[in-house]
Amino acid sequence: MTAVTGLGVLLEVQNCDTQLSQLAHRLAHLVERDLLVEAKTKVLALQKQMSDLQQQAETAKAEVGAIEALNKKHDAMIAKYSQQLKTVIAPREAEALQHEIEMAQSERSQNDDRELALLETIENLDGQITVLRLEIERHKSSVGEATKAFEAVANLCQVEKQNIETNRAGIVAKIDTKLVRLYEAKRAKRTTPAVARLNGTKCQSCHLDLSVVELGALKKLGADEFAECPNCDCYLVV
Ligand SMILES: [Zn+2]
Repeated sequence: MTAVTGLGVLLEVQNCDTQLSQLAHRLAHLVERDLLVEAKTKVLALQKQMSDLQQQAETAKAEVGAIEALNKKHDAMIAKYSQQLKTVIAPREAEALQHEIEMAQSERSQNDDRELALLETIENLDGQITVLRLEIERHKSSVGEATKAFEAVANLCQVEKQNIETNRAGIVAKIDTKLVRLYEAKRAKRTTPAVARLNGTKCQSCHLDLSVVELGALKKLGADEFAECPNCDCYLVV
């Protein structure tokens, strides 16, 4: 096998590698992946919303608890002063007790208003939480479907990848290992094809034209020398 023929064989390996990188690009940009990420993001956003609502409801419930405890104190005070009022004789004392009772009743009444408002808020929040819970369930099932769709297409890509790799291994097995190493070394340093055909005066890797002088130099290369593109440095199959 002469060197030039060898380079020609590398074109087949390059073809496999080009297919593999196209496949990797396709796999990285699957619309199914975007849809899955979108569905998961939506669920997370709804869960955050749910957690905020639950937090608000907890805070309101805690305040209701505090108000009820305070109301018990006020009730006890009102009962105590009312009892005392029955036994006092001095009008000034009676007046003072009456004043205390009125104060406690007024605070009690304000607390009742606040409690009613809070209970209404809690009911409202609980309603929103119920609706949101259903919405989260719906979106979770969307995530399930999106996961299945993504996995199906990703598996197809995987099968395709294995086919190309098997094909590539079969080709590589028939090539001189030194030549394969040269190809791999060149490929490691670039993203464009490491070996390409010279099509007329154009390198098929960088798509630039070679000058007459450059083309002349390629023709003078010995049979054991590898032609390289003077523009992009890839191996050229002349
Ligand atoms: Zn080139």
